[in-house]
Amino acid sequence: MELLKRRILQDGRCFEGGILKVDSFINHQMDPILMKSIGVEFVRRFANLNFNKVMTIEASGIAPAIMVGYLLELPVVFAKKKQPKTMENTISTTVRSFTKDREYNVCISRDFLGKGDRILFIDDFLANGNAANGIIDLIEQAGAELVGMGFIIEKAFQHGGDLLRNRNILVESLAIIDSLDNCRIEIRE
Ligand code: 5GP
Repeated sequence: MELLKRRILQDGRCFEGGILKVDSFINHQMDPILMKSIGVEFVRRFANLNFNKVMTIEASGIAPAIMVGYLLELPVVFAKKKQPKTMENTISTTVRSFTKDREYNVCISRDFLGKGDRILFIDDFLANGNAANGIIDLIEQAGAELVGMGFIIEKAFQHGGDLLRNRNILVESLAIIDSLDNCRIEIRE
């Protein structure tokens, strides 16, 4: 997605340890016009699949996921990182955070994820694939079905995308970063 790639090159910043900072337009301050275009592109790539719900994980996945849900008029559910006292019928799993270097629990209520649900998962980044694996675990526990996974940015050098694609999961990433070596952003053409 050209618009996104140009924006990453213009406003993205590289951090030690292979971290790309995009907090001026994606995951702290957000650009809603870009986010709408991201939603439109996800719809273009996934609209031929049969799914009834969009799923994401808080917090940065919510903006792109809600755009997709809005455009397709489908419900959007997000996995939570803290279980509210009011959550019923909870299922949970453990995810290792790449940016925070620690493990955390994510949970979701079976009230909003269950048998018969066909899920499109949307998130901001795909790095090692830990968050994605946690989501797959939740979907399996719920007896739902995953039809595809869409990421705004995939960092190909961390190989989470390879692991998912090798499991025959349909993965679409709108910008693929091949390297952040020497703090240079190399985006795949
Ligand atoms: P994974 O679980 O695939 O290793 O990492 C995905 C999660 O880690 C994303 O949901 C995102 O929040 C965070 N993440 C991974 N790499 C980056 C990065 O380079 N920059 C930012 N801002 N977040 C990242």
